[in-house]
Amino acid sequence: MLIKDVVCPFCGCLCDDLDVEVENGRIIRVDNACTLGSKTMVGDDRLKAPIRRDGKGWIETTYDAAIEEAAQILLDADRPLLYGWSRTHGEAQGIGVHLAELIGGVVDNTSTVCHGPSILAIQEVGHPGCTLGQVKNRADLIIYWGCNPIDAHPRHMSRYTTYATGFFVKDAHRDRKVIVVDTRRNESADVATEFVQVEPGGDYAVLSALRAIVRGRGDVVPPSVSGVSREQLVRVAEMCKNAKFGAIFFGLGLTMTAGKNKNVRNAIELTDELNRHTKFIISPMRGHGNVYGTNEVFTWITGYPYAVDFSRGIAFYNPGETTAIDILRRGECDACLVVASDPAAHFPKPCVEHLARIPVVQIDPHPNATTHICRLQIPGSVAGIDAAGTAYRMDGVPIRLKAIIETGVPNDTEILQRLYNRVREAKGE
Ligand code: SF4
Repeated sequence: MLIKDVVCPFCGCLCDDLDVEVENGRIIRVDNACTLGSKTMVGDDRLKAPIRRDGKGWIETTYDAAIEEAAQILLDADRPLLYGWSRTHGEAQGIGVHLAELIGGVVDNTSTVCHGPSILAIQEVGHPGCTLGQVKNRADLIIYWGCNPIDAHPRHMSRYTTYATGFFVKDAHRDRKVIVVDTRRNESADVATEFVQVEPGGDYAVLSALRAIVRGRGDVVPPSVSGVSREQLVRVAEMCKNAKFGAIFFGLGLTMTAGKNKNVRNAIELTDELNRHTKFIISPMRGHGNVYGTNEVFTWITGYPYAVDFSRGIAFYNPGETTAIDILRRGECDACLVVASDPAAHFPKPCVEHLARIPVVQIDPHPNATTHICRLQIPGSVAGIDAAGTAYRMDGVPIRLKAIIETGVPNDTEILQRLYNRVREAKGE
């Protein structure tokens, strides 16, 4: 059977034009996806059942027993942390937030190590954004700053920017200019019109220099700013001002380097400045398939996008204090529920060492680095493959993920709802 217009759940592009061939309940062929997407759809490296640590090895267990053990771990904890959520659907994320409230825990998502600083900047100065469809149809100038779409979002350029024909951009390759700004020449720079190489940690200064030039105060800009010549900065500023519609996409090269949220704030203010001359927007390159959804779901339930602490009986948010990295580094939490992410692969060593000392339960279909330090792992089905659910694309557009095969594996919503019910029952509520 050939299923058309399938959504790939892997990265924030959420490409919705995949053709998937299914035979005997298995995906045997995927067209239109990049290699990351194909591997996600066809991959067959999932756990077949929940597993629990038994001495030095693992034994399979039942979903009932696993949920009971997970509930007891959370009930016994004084300061539980519920972390991850970016590769599951919004319905499961919502139950996760309610579970954190029920047990007075901290619920945080992977924004904490990616675009959390972007959110802080947006909270300060707003977000002049638009949909990817607008970019595709209108933008004649694209800036990729601190990101490498060819590597991390392989179809971003072909669907929305460099190679995408739009309503007002008939010949994308000729009519659209692309500027790449990074600390090293990456693959995306090789197809760009202009490459701007910034010294590590120099983004803030370069953004400030561009703002000054766009404002008409190029005279205060020194001959070289963080390794970028004034001539090149003036050229880039002119390209931006002369564009009919410009779009800045930025990644972790801006959010997780020196300056962090202040870099992003400066980039937003550059966008604001450019809007005095032409139309310009700015948008984060969100990584995980539904990381944007975590921010949406957390915010509509608690008022805060990540790092929400319920230990006071109300939702409390203070990044730097209630963020997962900080809680783990202080050795504060005494149990952790990891859902749809892999902190052991991405967190700093002291945080992973603390995770290895406390009981960790992981809800994730795949064995990963966190498996090595967890006590219990419960596999769920995957939204977009064998589960349905809602995910948010990197531009904030919610997209429905379809279940295209039937595996009988419970989805994350069902697992978390059963866990929530069991904890609630044990607490007598
Ligand atoms: S670009 Fe992202 S969403 Fe699109 S097919 Fe590749 S991994 Fe999937």
